[in-house]
Formats: sequence, C-alpha cells, structure tokens
Amino acid sequence: MGKSREVESGALAGQGMILDTLIGQEKIWKRLVTAYENDHITGAYLFHGPSGVGKEGIAIRFAGLVNCKAGGSALCGECSSCAKFNRLQHPNMTLIVPLPKDRDIKKNDPPAKALKDDTITALAELIAAKADDPYTKIRLPRSNTILINSIREVREKIYLKAMETGRKMVLIFDADLLMTGDGSSANALLKILEEPPPETSFILITDFPERLVETIGSRCQQVFFPPVQTEIVAKHLQESLATPAEEAKLIAHLAQGNVRMAKHLAKQDLEEVQNQLLSLVKWLTKPSENNWRSFTQHAASTYRTNPQVLNFHFQLLSYWFRDAQFIQKMNGEAHIILEGMEYSLRKFVKHFPVGDFAAIVKELETCSSSLSRNYNLNLVITNLLFDIQENLHGTAG
Ligand SMILES: [Zn+2]
Repeated sequence: MGKSREVESGALAGQGMILDTLIGQEKIWKRLVTAYENDHITGAYLFHGPSGVGKEGIAIRFAGLVNCKAGGSALCGECSSCAKFNRLQHPNMTLIVPLPKDRDIKKNDPPAKALKDDTITALAELIAAKADDPYTKIRLPRSNTILINSIREVREKIYLKAMETGRKMVLIFDADLLMTGDGSSANALLKILEEPPPETSFILITDFPERLVETIGSRCQQVFFPPVQTEIVAKHLQESLATPAEEAKLIAHLAQGNVRMAKHLAKQDLEEVQNQLLSLVKWLTKPSENNWRSFTQHAASTYRTNPQVLNFHFQLLSYWFRDAQFIQKMNGEAHIILEGMEYSLRKFVKHFPVGDFAAIVKELETCSSSLSRNYNLNLVITNLLFDIQENLHGTAG
C-alpha cells in the first residue's frame, strides 16, 4: 500500500467525502468525469450491472461532482454543495426509491403520504446509513414498486426554477420496479424523458435492465458496472473493517465482486454463516414436512424483515449447488467458491450421485428473481422445493 496506490485511486477520491469508501469502478468514474469536463452530460443514464458493485454510490458521487462549487475534476469535499451531498441532502438531488403503500393516497399527493410514521423513520435511517456507507441498500420491507406519486412529485420539482445553481439530478434506485403494477410509473417517467427538462439528468439504476421497457432503455446512455475485483474487495475489508488478511481473501472470493455482500459477511461470524447455509441445504434437500416448513417459514420471515438477507441466502445456496456441480464433474481438481465447506460438499455430492445441480442453480436464480418481483412467496417456494427434489434424483423433465 505505497504512495503510488493512493495516487492511482486519487481520481475517484475527493477530500474527506464519505463516498470515498466506494471502491473499484475507476474506469467508469473517469468516463463520467471526462463527460463532465467536456460538457457532455446527457439527460438520462442507465447504470446497470450486478448487485453491490457501487452503481448507486457512483451515481450519488456524480451528482455531487456536477454540483460541486469548486468545479474541478473531483469533488472538493469542502464547499457548501459537497457538505450537503455528504448527508445525501441536496436540493438538486432527488432520490427515488421503491416504497411500500401503507395507505391509499390521491393522485396528486406526495408519496410520503402513503407511508406510516414508522416507515418514514425507517426510510430516514436508511438514507443516513447510505450516507455513511454507499453500499447500503435503501429497501424497505413490502416496497415492491416505485410509486407513480414519486414520479409526479419529481415532475413538479424539475420544471420549477432551480433553488440552487448547478444541475438537477434525479436518481432512481431499483428502476426495474417502475415496471411493476400497471406500469403507470414507467409511462409517467417516459413522458418526462421524451421532453427532457433543461439542466437535469436522470440516472436510472438497476440490477435487472432487461426488465425495463425498451422505450425507456433506449432513451438512456447505458453504463455497465462490472463486479469489483476480488483483490480490491479483500484489501478494502482489511482497511475499512480490519478483517484479517486470510479471512478477507476468503470472503472477497465468496462475494464474487459484490462489495455489499462482502461487507455483510465480514461483519458476521463465518462459522455461523456456514452453519446457516448447512441448515438451509438440509431443509431444502431432505423432504419432510418439518424441513419444508422450516424453509418456508425462514424465507417468509426473512423476506418480511429484510429482503436483502433472503437474497443473500439464495446467493449462498446457488454457490453451494454450483460447487456441488463442479465437484461432481471435475472430481479432484474442482475450484470451489465455498472453500471452507469442501468436506460437507463432497459428502453431499456422494449422497446425490445423479443430481442435476446446474438445474438447481437455475431454479434458485429464477426463484430469487421472482421474489424480488413480489410474486406469491409461498407458491414460489413450494414450486422450488418440488423442482429441487426432481433434480436431485434425476427425475426431472
Ligand atoms: Zn465541492
């Protein structure tokens, strides 16, 4: 970690900005900075790529850059604008996130009116947490759609005269959720994008760009965010969370470029995570009323309290079956993700000699993506349990 390393990442860093904790994505950042320097900022961007790689954080940082009063190629971190961005509270930045609908509201009501007081408090806490750690996900339980009122509210705001100089930046997180319900939110946004307001940019951010309607996607400049390199993630865990080197390496490897997941893992007891995974595997693969009930209940309660954690458990299960497939096919020299669990994995593979593990990985992906779209959880899980049984015993198809 010599001086040159610091200089190298200097392009991404401002002075003392909280968003300095973003890692990787230097190439994308440079591209955005160059666009800004050459006055080539477009009215709509679509940031897409896998989970936890810094898409939202870079969007916030970009919004900060174009509003920084110093006007340089990095955020100065000291002006009044940067100070507001540090708290994610700047009049020129609007964050649109999926929200639950605690109560019915009228057409022209602000979206906050749909929320109970508890929900508003939880939302404020999540925004504060995101200001501290840009990898934090602002996702409230039962928030499966971007409310049309959020789009209507922003429409009012962007055609108003700016309160501050600079550029209005509208960031839409989980933008694929514009499409849920009757799609009216997507339509409302499309109308705005068709007549782009001056000095305004929209940044749509999603892990699932294919779910967005083509008419929106085609109006945006697309920016793909790749997974963050394992070595960069490991180094970050050591520096920011004081994770011991060996463990950091293992976790980074496990997280596959997903920084959010890496941080989540680093804050947990790795042995507990492994035990949790073993329980999930047992519930899923040993058919008994008790096991299946355990899995369904675990999924339902985790989904209610923290959908991100359920997502993460599905990811772990995918790794398990992916590793099982590798061991089954490659025998001795399998390169597995769940390094510490090789013994249990080999035992598992022996137990299911004809198992179609690749098919199960696919089932898990479909299931996880259905849950993020608010399909009936019990139905989705029940189908998964049956499909896994068939694929374990080679009776599928
Ligand atoms: Zn500044």
